Amino acid sequence: MPDPLPGTPVTPPVAAPRAKKRPKELAVIDQSGCTGCEVCIEFCPVDCILTVPGPDFDQHKKLVEIDLEVCIGCKLCVKYCPWETIEMIASADALSVAARWTQRSVLPQAEWIRDASGIEVVASGPLPLHGAKPG
Ligand code: SF4
Ligand code: SF4
Repeated sequence: MPDPLPGTPVTPPVAAPRAKKRPKELAVIDQSGCTGCEVCIEFCPVDCILTVPGPDFDQHKKLVEIDLEVCIGCKLCVKYCPWETIEMIASADALSVAARWTQRSVLPQAEWIRDASGIEVVASGPLPLHGAKPG
């Protein structure tokens, strides 16, 4: 490339945006085994485990759900959950498994998660809780 003429502003090259690397696996909580102890929340390095409103449990039990869009698949929550109720699921299957195992108050918005799962995300109201009897 020829040198720019004197006085011509030089535009620095713009780097192409790098695509975010998608984790091979995402963590999904089986809420039927969750005690609401919140240990997993302490260990998550990206703060993507959230307490969410749940059905009529006693006041000491909360539900927790993982924001699949933010999870980096580090497995720390799986390692430290005292009740062994978190599993690593292939990213393409994580949303559909999460829809069966959790109430899904945390709805992933990322298209790649929805597209990979091939399921329709219900926008109004939570999905039925895993293990709950139809009401
Ligand atoms: S550590 Fe396990 S049992 Fe405790 S809140 Fe998290 S998922 Fe539930
Ligand atoms: S796998 Fe890592 S990033 Fe994902 S929810 Fe568990 S602790 Fe958080």
